[in-house]
Amino acid sequence: MSCIERILTEARDLSRDDLILLVNKLMEGFSHESATSSPKKMIAPRLDCPICHSNAHVVRNGHKHGKQAYICRQCGTSFVTTSNTLLSGSHFGTEIWTKVLEETLRGTSLDKTVKSLASHGCKISHSSLFFMRHKIMLALEDMQVEQPATVEDVVEADETYVPESKKGTKFGPDASRKPRKRGTPASKRGLSDEQICICTAVQRKTGDLIVKSENRARPSSANVVDIYTGHVQKGTLFLTDGMNVYPRLGKILGITVMNVKKESAGFFNLNTVNNLHSFIKRRYTEYRGVATKYLNRYNLVFRAAYRQRTTIGELAETLFASRNPKKVHHYGDVKELNLLAI
Ligand SMILES: [Zn+2]
Repeated sequence: MSCIERILTEARDLSRDDLILLVNKLMEGFSHESATSSPKKMIAPRLDCPICHSNAHVVRNGHKHGKQAYICRQCGTSFVTTSNTLLSGSHFGTEIWTKVLEETLRGTSLDKTVKSLASHGCKISHSSLFFMRHKIMLALEDMQVEQPATVEDVVEADETYVPESKKGTKFGPDASRKPRKRGTPASKRGLSDEQICICTAVQRKTGDLIVKSENRARPSSANVVDIYTGHVQKGTLFLTDGMNVYPRLGKILGITVMNVKKESAGFFNLNTVNNLHSFIKRRYTEYRGVATKYLNRYNLVFRAAYRQRTTIGELAETLFASRNPKKVHHYGDVKELNLLAI
């Protein structure tokens, strides 16, 4: 009897749950070989117990709220596929969440996404969609904390500006200004404190980028030091438009800052970062503006959409499959966490 025949004979005596466990164990080897392999090809997802983190004792245990339920035979914990993930507590499955992620990265407004989902038979309110999108953005923030963005080699840096937006907030009698109708320009001309600064630095060859807002109007030297410290590798050639806030950054980070305007054209240009700015402006319009307090969340979306290192499916897998009880965000987090208060 060959080795494979012997294994198959023994496998016949296994229970259904043990059989699934065995197949998933075997599939693990393959999934490492092919990072792009779809999880749908697997018989069932490999699940770690959210409490004891063992996956050797996790078996199916009926259904709960329409989702496959599991029980860990080691510690007795019952859980569903979405426990402790971004999707926990949601009425919607991975397919709808992936669609929301896709529309968010594409720059589709919430109104249009509601209509698009409805045309696919999924009824979802504007406010539910708002929370789904913001939970995705909070997960992108968590990813950024775990793997901070860095740039190196030749980097182009410049600032771009978007009008301040109080979208979603009610203007009371004590408001500092009257509400602005969407699309109307700021009342003050030129670069005023009604303009929010987005600092950007993009690595010319790879498109890796840093994008963050911290102030109104022009950034200070302290702003750029704060934004870029820890994100630009030593020895980087940092091409800028010659604003006097950058030379100090050069000394602190051990990078070479060059004023492109002083150099002749050719290699010394800011074309890549200018392209990035056009992209951000386009997205900002497509979203129909972004409330300033949420701008840094959207900056991470701009980053993910511009870079496109991974496919939407791969990003969805990373965001939705991650099980970390500390990173399951709720209503309050969406309204309060890491807001841009300037
Ligand atoms: Zn367990």
